[in-house]
Amino acid sequence: MSDLRITRIGPDQAGTLLAVVRAAFGARPAVDPPPDALTETEESLAALLAPFGGLLATVDGEPVGGLVLDPVGVSVYLRRFGVLPSAQGHGVATALVEAAEEAAEGYVDLRVLAREELPRTVRFWEHKGFARIGRTPPLIALSRPLRPPRLTRTVHTPEELQDLGRRLGPLLRAGDLLILTGDLGAGKTTFTQGLGEGLGVRGPITSPTFVIARIHPSLRGGPDLVHVDAYRLGSIEELEDLDLDTDFDEVVTVVEWGSGIAEVLGESRLEVRIGREEGRPGELEHGESRQVELFPVGPRWRGASWQDLH
Ligand code: ADP
Ligand code: MG
Repeated sequence: MSDLRITRIGPDQAGTLLAVVRAAFGARPAVDPPPDALTETEESLAALLAPFGGLLATVDGEPVGGLVLDPVGVSVYLRRFGVLPSAQGHGVATALVEAAEEAAEGYVDLRVLAREELPRTVRFWEHKGFARIGRTPPLIALSRPLRPPRLTRTVHTPEELQDLGRRLGPLLRAGDLLILTGDLGAGKTTFTQGLGEGLGVRGPITSPTFVIARIHPSLRGGPDLVHVDAYRLGSIEELEDLDLDTDFDEVVTVVEWGSGIAEVLGESRLEVRIGREEGRPGELEHGESRQVELFPVGPRWRGASWQDLH
């Protein structure tokens, strides 16, 4: 495949999408009643595209796949999803799902309805990370949760940075892993201090300069906070060698400088990246505003919301 592109389309492209949908659905095994996709007209498809649009996949400018994005409540349904038989097996479907995920940012999940007489289609969606959530014959509903959007925030003072941590604290639970990255003096420890307050753990939280890790017990029956400075740690084995006597499933773990070292502690993590404001090159200066990015990775954060941080 040479030049695969996914573009957002509106109702004016209904004719192009209709041709793709007809070719894709026409090639599938016949089902009774026939899929709505095959009774679609240019007018009806334009009406379906009107509220939120759809996606069109092209290879070297030729349409090969597409779908309609249909938001219903907190979900975005993918409808009329089709890839031309001649273009299948080249990543077109995956690219369409990824683009849909981007287009649906801010919603809780992507959903599809598949015909239960077509187990291959159902398996296709399961393979793409969708799970069955319901069945209304002849349809099976599948859902794939969306990752919460990244949060980017500018903080002007150390107090503002601590305040962000303080408000994040209550959103955390046992087993959570936070990886803090940023240069020396960026504010990783400052952020952790606020986080400790928000979690309600015993302080003081300081740079663990001589001690690589400290356990701050909860003062209110919540998870303890394990605060690790991985600056001088070469690998995760060294962290495990510290023999912290801690079950990481029962605590909230914050690792400063943990990028590339601590990811193996869990399948999910929240990366907290502290740096210069967008586009400003060079080193952070003391007293300068910082940009903080919360970058969630893994299933733990699917469906989570940063609303309480605003
Ligand atoms: P790190 O743990 O990343 O090495 P620290 O939190 O220990 O960094 O130190 C950050 C230092 O920068 C603190 O002395 C803090 O007062 C100072 N500072 C100045 N301006 C800011 C700001 N806008 N945000 C965070 N820290 C700031
Ligand atoms: Mg520090």
